[in-house]
Amino acid sequence: MKKVALVTGGTSGLGAAISARLTSDGYQVVANYLPALEDQALEWQQASEQDGLPCAVAAADVSDATSCQLMIDMLLEEFKRVDIVVNNAGITRDATLKKMDLEQWQAVINTNLSSLYNVCKPVLESMQNNRFGRIVNISSVNAQRGQFGQTNYSAAKAGVHGFTKALAQEMARHGVTVNTISPGFINTAMVDAIPEAMRTEIIDSIPVGRVGQPEDIARAVRFLVDDNAGYITGSEISVNGGLFMH
Ligand code: NAD
Repeated sequence: MKKVALVTGGTSGLGAAISARLTSDGYQVVANYLPALEDQALEWQQASEQDGLPCAVAAADVSDATSCQLMIDMLLEEFKRVDIVVNNAGITRDATLKKMDLEQWQAVINTNLSSLYNVCKPVLESMQNNRFGRIVNISSVNAQRGQFGQTNYSAAKAGVHGFTKALAQEMARHGVTVNTISPGFINTAMVDAIPEAMRTEIIDSIPVGRVGQPEDIARAVRFLVDDNAGYITGSEISVNGGLFMH
C-alpha cells in the first residue's frame, strides 16, 4: 500500500517540488492549498497529472485549526491513514519591528508556527496506531541567524525547530520521527521577490556561489521520510550552500 504524504502549501514553490519528488518515488501525495487559491491548485494538479505525477489536492488554511481538522478528517476517511506530513506552507510579511503592525506579526506566527499545531495534532493518533510516522517541518536559515526586517519570520521559524525537538521526544517511542529542514536561499517566487541588487549580494555571500533549487530541498525531505530513516529524529538539516554553518 502506498504511504500517504500530506504536503502543506504543496502546489507551488518548494512544496510543488516536494510533492513531485514524493509522487515520483511512489508515495500517494496530497498537496494542500489555501482555499482562496483553488484555481491555481487545480491547474497545478492537472499539469502534474500530464507530467505523469498524479497527486491528490486538499484545501485548508493551515493558520486555522478547524480548517486543518476538517481536511485531515477527510483524508483519514478517504485514505485511512496519513503517514507523512511536510509542514511547508509559509509566508513573509517583512517590516522592521518599529513599523510592523500586529496583523503582520500575527499572520506570520499563525501561518508559519501555529500551523504545526493545527496540522500535526489531528494526525498523531493515526500515526501512533500505525506505529509509523514522518513529520518534516520547513524552517529557514533566517531562523538560525536572524534577518533584518523579519522579527516575525525569524521568531516563527526558530519556534518551528523548538516544536520539532519537543514533538520528536513525545513521539520517539511510537515510530514517529520529527525533523526540521532549514533551507537557505532557494530559487522560488519568495526569493524572486528580493530586489536584484540585494539578490546579487546574497549570492556573493553563499559559499557554493549560487542559490539552491527546490529539488535540493525535496531530496532532503525524501531522505527524512524514508522507511529506513527511523533513527533520525529531532534533527535539523541545513540545505543552504554553506551560508550558515553551526
Ligand atoms: P511559496 O510562496 O512559493 O509557497 C508557499 C506556499 O504556501 C504557497 O503555495 C502558499 O499558497 C501556501 N500557503 C501560504 N499560506 C497558507 C495557508 N495559510 N494555508 C495553506 N497554504 C498556505 O514559498 P516557498 O519559497 O516555496 O516557501 C516554502 C516554505 O519554505 C515556506 O515555509 C518558506 O518560509 C520556506 N523557505 C523558503 C525559502 C526560499 O528560499 N524559497 C528559504 C527558507 C525557507
